[in-house]
Amino acid sequence: MSNDEPTSVYLTATCRTPGCPVENQPFTAQFYANAEPPTYRCICLPCGQHLTDLAPVAAPIDPAGTV
Ligand SMILES: [Zn+2]
Repeated sequence: MSNDEPTSVYLTATCRTPGCPVENQPFTAQFYANAEPPTYRCICLPCGQHLTDLAPVAAPIDPAGTV
C-alpha cells in the first residue's frame, strides 16, 4: 500500500526572463513536490518560461489571519 500524499509548500517565485511583464516581481504560490527532480516546477504564465528562482516562504499564508 502506498500512502503518498502530495507534499505542498508555499514558495516565492520570481521570473527572471528579460522583458517578461512580471520580470523581477515575486509572487507566492503553492507548489507540490514532484517525484522526480526538479522537485518544484512552475511556469511563468506571461512568458511561458520555467521559473528558476523559487524561495521558501517564511510563514504559511493564512487567508483568515489577523490584519
Ligand atoms: Zn516570466
